[in-house]
Amino acid sequence: MNVLSLVIVVRMLVVWWERRGGRPLSLAVERTHDRLMRGAFDDVPLAMLFPRLSPADVESLEQAASAVDEAHSDGDKAEWEWALDHVVFPGPQPWTPVILGLGVIEHADGGDQLEFLLQVVWTDLGQLAVDAAVNVACWCDTDHASHDVDALGLVVGHETSLPHAFQAGAERLIGWLTDPRDPDTWRARAALPPRQPV
Ligand SMILES: [Zn+2]
Repeated sequence: MNVLSLVIVVRMLVVWWERRGGRPLSLAVERTHDRLMRGAFDDVPLAMLFPRLSPADVESLEQAASAVDEAHSDGDKAEWEWALDHVVFPGPQPWTPVILGLGVIEHADGGDQLEFLLQVVWTDLGQLAVDAAVNVACWCDTDHASHDVDALGLVVGHETSLPHAFQAGAERLIGWLTDPRDPDTWRARAALPPRQPV
C-alpha cells in the first residue's frame, strides 16, 4: 500500500468514526499533546494550577466541584483533566489551552452523543476564562461531529473572580445535568439536521 492510499484509508476511518458519533478525532489529538493529567477533583493540584488563589478561593472551587459530583447522574465522582503545561499562558494558540476541565459524556441510542463541558481556559489575550457548554453529535454534510448548542463563557477580570466564574459555570452545568434533554431536542433547538439512521 502506498502512502496516498494509506492516507485515504485513515481519512475514511476518521469520517466513519465521527459519523457514527465518536468524539471528533482532531479534538483527541489536540488533547493528547497537552499532556493532560486525570483524576477526581480531590486530586487536582489547585495551588499549582492557580497560584494566585487564596485558601478561601480554593475552598469555593472545591464546593462548586462537589456540587457537580452530586449532580452527576451515575453517582460516580466526575473525572477532571488538567495540564500543568498551561499554568503559564502559552500565548495565543490555534487551539484553546485548557488548564482544568471536566467532560461528562452522556450517551444515547445508536451511537448518538451528548457532551457537557466545564473548563478553565486561557483566552487569546491571556485572561483566564470559564467555559461551560453542551455539545451534540451532528449529521451535517461536513465531517465534524459536535456543535455547542448551549454555552456560557465568562472571562475572569476585575469584575468576575475565578471562583465566581467557576461557580457560575458549575451551576449552568448542574442545570443541564438535572434537566436532561435528548440530543434530538438540542439539535432541533440549534437548527441542526436531525439524526439519521446508522
Ligand atoms: Zn456539524
